[in-house]
Amino acid sequence: MAVERKVYVLYTGGTFGMKKDDDGKLAPQTLDVIKDFIIRHTILYERKKGESDENVWNRIVTKDGLITLYHQLAEDDPKAKSQKYKVLYRMDSLPTPIDSSNVTPKDWSDMAEKIKEHMGVYDGFVIIHGTDTMAFTSSALSFILGKINKPVIVTGAQMPIFHPRTDGLDNFVGSMLMAGYFCDREMLHQVMLYDLNKLYQGNRVVKFDCDSFSVFDSPNVFPIASLETTIKLYEHKMVEPIFPPSLKSKAFTRAETPEVRILRFFPGITENYVRGILVGADGVILETYGSGNVPDVAWLKECLTEADKRGVLMLNCTQVYRGTVLPIYATFEAHVIPGYDITPEAAMTKMIWVLNSGFNPETKRKILKHSLYGESCAPPYSPLLPNVEPGEREQTPE
Ligand code: ASP
Repeated sequence: MAVERKVYVLYTGGTFGMKKDDDGKLAPQTLDVIKDFIIRHTILYERKKGESDENVWNRIVTKDGLITLYHQLAEDDPKAKSQKYKVLYRMDSLPTPIDSSNVTPKDWSDMAEKIKEHMGVYDGFVIIHGTDTMAFTSSALSFILGKINKPVIVTGAQMPIFHPRTDGLDNFVGSMLMAGYFCDREMLHQVMLYDLNKLYQGNRVVKFDCDSFSVFDSPNVFPIASLETTIKLYEHKMVEPIFPPSLKSKAFTRAETPEVRILRFFPGITENYVRGILVGADGVILETYGSGNVPDVAWLKECLTEADKRGVLMLNCTQVYRGTVLPIYATFEAHVIPGYDITPEAAMTKMIWVLNSGFNPETKRKILKHSLYGESCAPPYSPLLPNVEPGEREQTPE
């Protein structure tokens, strides 16, 4: 008897499922259109000679509406030699599929809700998403979902699945394999991103190429898996926070977006410009030079110190592609929290998550100072850490 693995697929939009509209512009199609196309795709299903689409459909769809993935794919799992596996999947979608440049924190809450709702029934999860903001979504979901014991994989495409040269079907099959056949590997129990035969930690990725089929990179940590002629899983240490019950996520219960801003440094930056960003902000990501450097001028220190006094949370990340911000430079004195090697995408989504939480200001700062779900090489979060700031205590969120 084959072991059944159930995968829940959430289609949210993106180029993966786009077709040209009457004006010649690409627009996301509905789930029905996607399903209809995927079902007829021979790579995904074994087709018997002369079998009609209807017969294939009747054979691969279970009474409960789950679709059977082509069994041949199971042979890519080394364990499949001794045990037969069968992946069944269900496709669902957000009410309105979107181009991911329209994604908002509210959509992240909706995606997380859908996953939480189906956690008990499915073994793995695949989210189909546009590539433009995919790294934001995979980072955001890593914070919202927190510690999980099933794989959640976000994927998409550079060319629609309806195009003969699409990368969408490869990405879909690869994600399904990892989320389904490999669902019991503990190292995959986290939010990940799948792109061109590689599986990455979701809160470590950046979109670095909008032309090539290799869209994403993980500049500071190695990929989790590489799907070559054989599938290679790389030894991957998942950092787990020691999370007291009082810190269980209350984030995103409110859908509003906090006042988050980016302060990117450039030669000739003015006091006016910096003040304009800091005044009225709840949280600011500083994109600094090198390992966290900013101009050594009195007005900047003043601006940052004043912002800190007003309670603005500031996280220092480098504008350099790869590398680490170290807590040794002047911005650190002005209460700017060093982000270590966090990506700008993970920094921004962590800031939004923290600001939406009901934690007290000291706890918010402490969460930003530490790594929660392996998003940076900062010391892992623990309430027992010795470098707790004066007066800082855990509190139950209001
Ligand atoms: N604009 C598209 C999106 O992010 C791009 C893509 O999917 O590659 O939805």
